[in-house]
Amino acid sequence: MTETHIPRKRFGQNFLKDNHVIDKIINALHPRSQDLLVEIGPGLGALTQVVLNQIDHLFVVEIDKDLSAKLQASYPPSRLSVIEEDALKYNFALLSQQSQDPMKKMRIFGNLPYNISTPLLFHLLSFSPLIQDMLFMLQKEVVMRMAAKSNQDDYGRLSIMIQYFCEVHPLFDVGPQSFFPPPKVMSSIVRLKPYGENRPFKLARNEKLFSHIVAVAFQHRRKTLKNALGDLVPQEIFTNINLDPKRRPETLSVEEYIALSDAVDIYKNNSN
Ligand code: SAM
Repeated sequence: MTETHIPRKRFGQNFLKDNHVIDKIINALHPRSQDLLVEIGPGLGALTQVVLNQIDHLFVVEIDKDLSAKLQASYPPSRLSVIEEDALKYNFALLSQQSQDPMKKMRIFGNLPYNISTPLLFHLLSFSPLIQDMLFMLQKEVVMRMAAKSNQDDYGRLSIMIQYFCEVHPLFDVGPQSFFPPPKVMSSIVRLKPYGENRPFKLARNEKLFSHIVAVAFQHRRKTLKNALGDLVPQEIFTNINLDPKRRPETLSVEEYIALSDAVDIYKNNSN
């Protein structure tokens, strides 16, 4: 594809131009013909072209009409299905349904637009039972937050919610010079693997409540749990599960947030 496209800032367009980095990403992805592969934000096709050299068919989701038109003109639909949509709103379950084998899980990858990466990750997590794995280029700082453990500076809502659903494997860093235009930040590649049978912790009884408690706790990460969570968690729940209400939100592990949310859910159900 030609380089006449002027990068659009509003779509977070920083295109990969470094063949060495592109090869490293594709090696990490290791695409196979039988995979149900989905690329988010193919752009000018830096990753798309190399993947299509190795496999028969690929789905891509691209918001920019000019870029999706270029991609459609470059490959027949039998090889490349271009979905011209906002990935933040797209129902990824439709792709599983389109597959010849509806049990097949998706493998999603992409050099993501950094301006929407957190909401996009949350959106994708809602499809995690349908996803085999994900490989993403993200801002390095976001990858550090995703992988952080309790008591680390980067630990927060993103770490807990991602680790509740997936294994997080940061792979390697990529400098700004590998893109045009170069972003102002360092980037990293991360692999995410939704848990199957091997979940390291149990599912929360009420995932909406779990997610809500985590979000509220980290609105005030410097407060004590008791002050940060206020009326959401009555004092007797802290006592029942032996959790010190003077601890700070950033000191609780994922398991402890699940235990807290389960206790609140049981308490609410009993008092109804
Ligand atoms: N994959 C290409 C590469 O590595 O050179 C482009 C990566 S660029 C960082 C991000 C791509 O995501 C752009 O093509 C942009 O148009 C697309 N994009 C931005 N927001 C999007 C959205 N909400 N849904 C789908 N694609 C989006």
